[in-house]
Amino acid sequence: MKRTLFAADALLPTGWTKNVLLAWDEAGRLTQVQPDAAPPSGTPASSGPVIPGTPNLHSHAFQRAFAGLTEHRAEQQDSFWSWRTLMYRFAARLAPHHMEAIATWLYAEMLEAGYTSVCEFQYVHHDTGGRPYANDASLSLALLRAAQRTGIGFTLLPVLYQSSGFGGLPPNEGQRRFIRSTESMLRLLEALRPVCDAQGARLGLAPHSLRAVAPDALHDALAGLDALDPTSPIHIHIAEQTKEVDDCLSWSGQRPVAWLLDHAPVDARWCLVHATHMDADEYRRAALSGAVAGLCPTTEANLGDGIFDFAAWRHHGGAWGVGSDSHACVNAAEELLMLEYSQRLATRQRNVGADGSHPQVATALTLAAVRGGAQAAGRAVGGLAVGQQADFVVLDARHLALQGLAAPDMLSAHVFASHRTSAIDAVWVAGQSRVAGGRHALHDEAAAAFVAARTQLLED
Ligand SMILES: [Zn+2]
Repeated sequence: MKRTLFAADALLPTGWTKNVLLAWDEAGRLTQVQPDAAPPSGTPASSGPVIPGTPNLHSHAFQRAFAGLTEHRAEQQDSFWSWRTLMYRFAARLAPHHMEAIATWLYAEMLEAGYTSVCEFQYVHHDTGGRPYANDASLSLALLRAAQRTGIGFTLLPVLYQSSGFGGLPPNEGQRRFIRSTESMLRLLEALRPVCDAQGARLGLAPHSLRAVAPDALHDALAGLDALDPTSPIHIHIAEQTKEVDDCLSWSGQRPVAWLLDHAPVDARWCLVHATHMDADEYRRAALSGAVAGLCPTTEANLGDGIFDFAAWRHHGGAWGVGSDSHACVNAAEELLMLEYSQRLATRQRNVGADGSHPQVATALTLAAVRGGAQAAGRAVGGLAVGQQADFVVLDARHLALQGLAAPDMLSAHVFASHRTSAIDAVWVAGQSRVAGGRHALHDEAAAAFVAARTQLLED
């Protein structure tokens, strides 16, 4: 099999470049990214511009099965908290075979939509009665199998969840499948590690939130994680909701991000998921810590969370990436669109996401999201550069929105004007073709299994 591709236009970390020859080794790592190359005879040429694949830095796979089902008024004032009640009801019925079917479809869908890897924030651990499965790792293994089958790059983040509110409040009934001791979490990580290693997946840890993990447990879990792998990624939900900020203030006298920065060794290993509600000092300190802001623009919009202050974050040089989180939308380009539009609405300006090096918004956002996403994933998936994995997307140059345009405009049209149809022709992960002609090989089979699993979960 040939491990080379010639692209007339490719988006390298420095920007759009002509006549790029990509070559990779057997492990799928780029060994050559040569600009201004002559197309060598026998080397396949890409059908359109090549852009780096986007790492999806935040996913709860099972939530894909009820995306679209919470869009009706159930309470006088619906919010994140009423959505969560419905999510708990759904989570209560989920079995490992449902998880695998949902995730297999979701990951195929992600690949078709330009994501080449995903960080799975996996918090359903136990059986429907809240007891550990005979194999305690059953639900995590179901996700690993789905990743393996679809070929998406994977970072597994088993979630530590212990309490229902700040200060170690006891968990409630809806949380019984999530709860585990710090010690049993560390045993789970030990059990999962060889499986992750065998398929090239990265293993990290996700303390769910400051609501769900008390200070002592956070400290012990991080110490245990360091003993296993001191470089592994750490993700946490933080400051998504104003109620969470208020509750944290009454518990500790501090806002959540400020509390975390004062009490945990936050650095470049960390991904602060959402981080929507920060004051000016928190924006400065969190950005300078080196942590990635895990933005989930369509989910944050869907849940009515609030708007991240992108200008403040970037002013301090903060890293960021995007995640599809609840999967109300599974499309890397649409997350960038939503991020840019939320900023335009909030600031009454246009082209907020452009930066000094890249005036084209879609180009600037894509490169930054790939860089930050790779950091959050703890994997070498940071773009088209030697040593990084050959994860890339070929835009569909024949799509009506793109036809006849220059390559940078094709990416702009893909993000801002492809009208929710796919303008993606091919997707490669670790140098292997996973999507061709816009379709994943498992598309039909995985879709049918997904619909069957969802139907079962919705039956009374
Ligand atoms: Zn989440």
